Amino acid sequence: MSKLTKKIVIAIDGFSSCGKSTFAKAIAARLGYIFIDTGAMYRAVTLCAINQGAVSEDLVNEQAVVALLDGVDISFKFNSEREASDVYVNGECVEDQIRSIEVSNCVSRISSIREVREKLVALQQQMGRDRGVVMDGRDIGTVVFPDAELKIFMTADAKVRAERRYAELTAKGDKVTMEEILENVISRDKADMTRAISPLRQAEDAVVLDNSYMSVEEQMEWFMERYESLVKE
Ligand code: C5P
Repeated sequence: MSKLTKKIVIAIDGFSSCGKSTFAKAIAARLGYIFIDTGAMYRAVTLCAINQGAVSEDLVNEQAVVALLDGVDISFKFNSEREASDVYVNGECVEDQIRSIEVSNCVSRISSIREVREKLVALQQQMGRDRGVVMDGRDIGTVVFPDAELKIFMTADAKVRAERRYAELTAKGDKVTMEEILENVISRDKADMTRAISPLRQAEDAVVLDNSYMSVEEQMEWFMERYESLVKE
């Protein structure tokens, strides 16, 4: 079968608040692929852990987090207004709640727990088993789909990233400061890069995209060049 007609896996990894999901969503819409935001899955587990008192901004009870995992059923449902999938926990839409600064401040501690990663990686591999997916996260090209046909590693200046996240949260009416967002972006990157299991790192065969000063259209153009040269091989 020619690569032009074969559906592939596109893995997008990189630092916090680089616009990975916006980029992945645009690619999926362009190619008619499914888009999976794996960060939303780690955030959903974190929200459950907060609600059950298993994690706070100061401490984490790993045993309690592991104990609640079996009762957490994560799924996605397409929201036509947003033109993207919302994340659900046990049938309840938690898309808005998972973007709070509280969840952002706790998520790296939850995502470093082995049992959490094992459960979510297995679910992600199942979701992408028929290929034709764009998946964004931290370990997609290295652990979830090491055989992805196209791997992109995204980065951008930390200040630019914090400004984007700040604009996004304040537009929703969240009361946050630029300082706390910048601190969260920097500390999350550090925690994600230094954790023992599946740390954030660039896969050897990934192409780097620094989008500090690129519009979504420019990023799309950059992507289509790579995609087309790949499928024409
Ligand atoms: O992508 P997003 O910033 O929403 O991800 C939230 C957090 O989830 C990350 O900071 C990281 O700790 C965790 N994560 C992960 N592996 C992934 C996706 C996200 O550890 N594949």
